[in-house]
Amino acid sequence: MARMGRFEVHGKVVETPALLPVVNPKICTVPPRELYERFGFKALITNSYIIRGTPALRDRALEVGLHEMLDYPGVIMTDSGTFQSHMYGEVDLKNEEIVQFQKDIGTDIGTVLDIFTEPFWTKEQTAASIEVTLERTEAACAMKGDMLINGVIQGSVYQDLREDCARRMAGMDIDVHPIGGVVPLMEQYRYSELVDVVMSSKRGINHGRPVHLFGAGHPMILALATLMGCDLFDSAGYAKFARDDRMMFIDGTFRLSDMQSLDCDCPACRGRSLDELRRMDKNSRTKTIAEHNLYQITRELALVKRYLREGRLWELAEIRCRAHPALLDALRRLKEHQAQMEEYDPVSRDGAIFYTGPESRGRPAYKRYLDRLARYRAPTDKAALFPDSQGKPYGRAYAEEFDKARKAGYTPVVASPFGPVPAELDEMYPIAQSLFPSIPDSETETESDRLTFQFLSMAGFKEAVPFDRIPEGGTEEYDGDLLRAKAVARHQFGCEAADALFRGEVKLVKSKNTGKIRNVISDGEHVLSMRAGDGLYTLKMEGARRIVSAVPAPYMRVKVMDDAVPFVSDGRNVFAQFVVSCDPGLRPMEETIIVDVGDNPVATGRLFLTPAEMPFMKKGMAVKVRSGSSDD
Ligand SMILES: [Zn+2]
Repeated sequence: MARMGRFEVHGKVVETPALLPVVNPKICTVPPRELYERFGFKALITNSYIIRGTPALRDRALEVGLHEMLDYPGVIMTDSGTFQSHMYGEVDLKNEEIVQFQKDIGTDIGTVLDIFTEPFWTKEQTAASIEVTLERTEAACAMKGDMLINGVIQGSVYQDLREDCARRMAGMDIDVHPIGGVVPLMEQYRYSELVDVVMSSKRGINHGRPVHLFGAGHPMILALATLMGCDLFDSAGYAKFARDDRMMFIDGTFRLSDMQSLDCDCPACRGRSLDELRRMDKNSRTKTIAEHNLYQITRELALVKRYLREGRLWELAEIRCRAHPALLDALRRLKEHQAQMEEYDPVSRDGAIFYTGPESRGRPAYKRYLDRLARYRAPTDKAALFPDSQGKPYGRAYAEEFDKARKAGYTPVVASPFGPVPAELDEMYPIAQSLFPSIPDSETETESDRLTFQFLSMAGFKEAVPFDRIPEGGTEEYDGDLLRAKAVARHQFGCEAADALFRGEVKLVKSKNTGKIRNVISDGEHVLSMRAGDGLYTLKMEGARRIVSAVPAPYMRVKVMDDAVPFVSDGRNVFAQFVVSCDPGLRPMEETIIVDVGDNPVATGRLFLTPAEMPFMKKGMAVKVRSGSSDD
């Protein structure tokens, strides 16, 4: 669900995921100009409520504008004082007044005066407060003018309220979605509930808008929050902790008085000892620690972006969540949202999947593999069971044994950490493109055995033997390539589509160098090509035509407007604003068929967005088109 974005605000560009340092307009720990130039923060948050309540600041902000007052050229977001009025019980604050004030001082992104909900509130109390927040959000949208507006999703720990609040805001003229009311959860280390809050908010959200996890800024949470699809974060802690002599590190926050050594090579600490830092005067020490805290944040954010670009953010999140047992709870809770995450997970990636522990099985790729295994049809009614092997693909590691099994009428099945893997599927993503430790853990081993035995009965095997009990001297003939070609097609496209693709006389074209399947020719027509990298197919135009006539709409289809048809059939990509509808079962990077409104195939390509995101995207590529109908 993680995404990289370009968020453009009044001509200024912020690359997401991004963190916005919170600047207290009264206490300037690190000057905003330095935040921008030295640390590279292209956006910050300050509090319009404090500015408004401090006559000198208020007059200056109204006179010269917020950017000049703070000497900050980047994007400025202002908070409305919701938290302060909640904490200190202010009642004189009015939504319209504070929104108007934010406009008057030239804020880039202003915030509604929403109602802060505490996790201990009853559901009725929470639901009633959401109604007020929604009314105020409508009012703010109507008067926002050029200012962008934050529509804060509330709902406390009640997942249905969060989802409903997000859904009701989806149609409003909102620009950014903070997920609010999570600070108490983070302060109390209730990270597993934080996962529920974010995931339920995302279920109803308008995906075309940036999502801001309000109050989340500790480096230890950034990888996990980005993984769940949060784009913006903020940190008041870098300065607050510094004033309190507390240092942020990737594995927690530590008091200067408790630390045994500094051992930090960030630019603020480099060359300093713990004693030197302790002996500094209060102001210099506060600034040094605040800078250290900011460096910890920027370093982790850079790492999150690198892993995100490489498609490996799951691994970083899994590693980070081992820093504290409460974070491990969060990672484990995420497994309960596996089905939701699966909708956003690409069907294949360039790199291999690394296993970091039993929690790795919570990743969407594991669920998807097992879900699609239900499409498997066993070619024989006897199975030979093999243990997992370090060598991949299994067909190469067990070449002789697999052949012996086939000749004796047995289908080889490996009990892998993904679950059972029939020999035909061993080269396919993610089976061959994954790495597991050679010393297995008992949890995954037990689960693998359980899934394998369940599979044997579900797939219709009548008999199963361990691989060392395969009878000698079998003479049955088999075509391993054809079995693989068909099994992968069923796994990838479903049984009905695979039957249409493999009808009549089937000829396989193989690579002369590797001996791997390249093209599938059925009744003289080139319907599929197999990719060497992930062992999955690309769909040819003739294959697309067959699927469209064999399987009813909307299966595998992306329907486009008439205006787009001539361009798409010429091989141009499909952009989100031209999509009429989309098969909700499609996944990112999946092969898809572009059809016109009359369900006539126009082109084939790979899906770049999820079906859930597509209706909300006003621009951007929805399908990367490979071949249009005018090519052949
Ligand atoms: Zn440091």
